[in-house]
Amino acid sequence: MLKLDSISKVYRVGTFGGQTLTAVRDVSFDIGPGEVVSLIGESGSGKSTIGKMILRLSGVTRGSISFDGTDIATLSGRKKLKEYYRHVQGVFQDPFSSYNPVFKADRVFEMVRKEYFPRLSTGEWEKKLRSSLEVVRLDPNQVLNKYPHQLSGGQLQRLLIARALLLDIKFLVADEVISMLDASTRIDVLNLLADLKARGLGILFITHDLALGNYVSDRTVILRNGRIVEMGETEEVFANP
Ligand code: ADP
Ligand code: ADP
Repeated sequence: MLKLDSISKVYRVGTFGGQTLTAVRDVSFDIGPGEVVSLIGESGSGKSTIGKMILRLSGVTRGSISFDGTDIATLSGRKKLKEYYRHVQGVFQDPFSSYNPVFKADRVFEMVRKEYFPRLSTGEWEKKLRSSLEVVRLDPNQVLNKYPHQLSGGQLQRLLIARALLLDIKFLVADEVISMLDASTRIDVLNLLADLKARGLGILFITHDLALGNYVSDRTVILRNGRIVEMGETEEVFANP
């Protein structure tokens, strides 16, 4: 489904962009439906850069990323990108920063409705919204009329996952999604990711925490200074430290 083929990322840095920094070097792996891959590495090892390239938030310098056989670099124009984001979505470490503080939760969902389901009747829309909130175990009456600061980090993270679930997503980039959550909420979100996997989603689970990768993933990719230093079945990677 998602295939990274020898991708590298070179950033221009320095005051006038005269220097370069290679954040990702020659990284290849793929992720199929219902498969969770952990991408693990220390801070600065290039994990988020890979997530951003998959989400088309940052360009690939060399190599290619393809989704269902199409090189995502060729997806130009609003229509094609919209179609891509129908299937591929990301959630990030700080749910507060991914959520406009002046919007109540229902506005956030309404924007998805306007963009992707302009012809749905109110009844059909409410049914869809209800079922996606049900997957993430949020009560519509408790969240829809709230502003982000009135929700907990865990509720907000689940809300953003519910927003992604309204679409026909096949792939989720989860970048440090539980790092900021307390222990019990972490378990809830990890269990939710397991549910999504069971529904056939492919997931890239980005974390700096080795133990967390072990908890959720089928395969593990370990990154150091932008390069893959180890990759394999999670059990095997963790059996040979
Ligand atoms: P990680 O997610 O593993 O912490 P990142 O992908 O965020 O690592 O960063 C990898 C390297 O690339 C770091 O050295 C970081 O400072 C650098 N970097 C990240 N984003 C940019 C950017 N937009 N411009 C320049 N350098 C960046
Ligand atoms: P693209 O390469 O696809 O144009 P980037 O991911 O390079 O997009 O982001 C654009 C710019 O954002 C970078 O050139 C850099 O100036 C700035 N930037 C963002 N995050 C960082 C970071 N962590 N360190 C340095 N610069 C950053």
